[in-house]
Amino acid sequence: MIYLDSAATTCVSQSVTNRISEVLTECFANPSSLYDFGLVSRKVLEASREEIAEAFGCEPCEVYFTGCGTESNNIAILGAARARKSWGNGIIVTGYEHPSVQNTVAALEREGFAVETVMPDENGNVSIDEIASRVTKQTALVAAMHVNNETGAVIDVAELAARIKSISGRTAFHSDNVQGFLKQPFRLTRDIDTMSVSAHKIHGPKGIGALYVRRGLNLEKVMFGGGQERGLRSGTENIAYAAGFACASKMLRTSVQKNFEKISALNDFLRVELAQIADLCINSPKDASPYILNFSLMGYKSENILHFLEQRGIYVSSGSACARGERSHTLSAMGKEIQADSAIRISMCAETTQAEVREAVAAIAAAQSGLLKINRSR
Ligand code: PLP
Repeated sequence: MIYLDSAATTCVSQSVTNRISEVLTECFANPSSLYDFGLVSRKVLEASREEIAEAFGCEPCEVYFTGCGTESNNIAILGAARARKSWGNGIIVTGYEHPSVQNTVAALEREGFAVETVMPDENGNVSIDEIASRVTKQTALVAAMHVNNETGAVIDVAELAARIKSISGRTAFHSDNVQGFLKQPFRLTRDIDTMSVSAHKIHGPKGIGALYVRRGLNLEKVMFGGGQERGLRSGTENIAYAAGFACASKMLRTSVQKNFEKISALNDFLRVELAQIADLCINSPKDASPYILNFSLMGYKSENILHFLEQRGIYVSSGSACARGERSHTLSAMGKEIQADSAIRISMCAETTQAEVREAVAAIAAAQSGLLKINRSR
């Protein structure tokens, strides 16, 4: 099998599986229980938090475990906007956010917030200048993802956050970093108020995420219950998955730069190889994350190419996994409606090899002769 869909999810590392199994069997006590056995679970949880804090470059008290990246985005966006409602009605968001951001912002719009959307240009890039130019003293929240999940487009969110704060210090800035975490070299600054990540994109389990919340940030709670995670995310903590997440983070944390260089070289190779294929256009920006490359084999339907490759044991996607075959909203936002019909996303992980990429490209070239050109009229 050649798995080139790491932006959808990654395989769970064996050491992560071992760690989860160990914690599940040996530390099953509730971390809130007051006896010593409960304390053992509490220690595992706090050690896991420390690891994620180390990876973020923040204090452990600024890390909150959540159920997934989606939940992190919901808690941050709803919480930050509602906490500012008394003075700020504006929300600014990019036009290519993940649905867990887009739909959360849409819910806030129904609550009465005024939402402005900044679209990516035809190359797939969102302009920091354009976002900054819309910020006013009444802007409650700006949300911009670090790495786009469909094209890999990157926003320098540290720079953007600094620009926002220089205009309006009380505006909250949230970044969805689910695709960038431990892949794209990144510096967490104090201008970034909240940031979401998810374990399953870095060889951890599905069903656990984390949220960075800058210490001192005013965030209204959106979940109510027993008060776990310092009241922000009630519910008995999933310490086995927190430990698995920490294990996955530890394995990647010190090799982000090295892996980035390796995958950049692989991405260059992939682009050169794909350039040999007629009628193939690259949709990802030139300076996108090397882990993600989006292209269109013009005249062929994404779904047909995907299944052609699948029959040869090669797994890619036609865009965002959660869109389940729907047309790419990122390409549509870029004004690339025709390309969206034929879009394929190859997404890699640190383990991806050149041989795998070469074989995938050969299969893509073969798809051109093996498949019927069904939308010839376009
Ligand atoms: N944000 C981005 C950019 C993503 O790519 C994803 C998942 O694909 C999410 C958020 C949601 O993360 P989760 O699957 O952990 O809810």
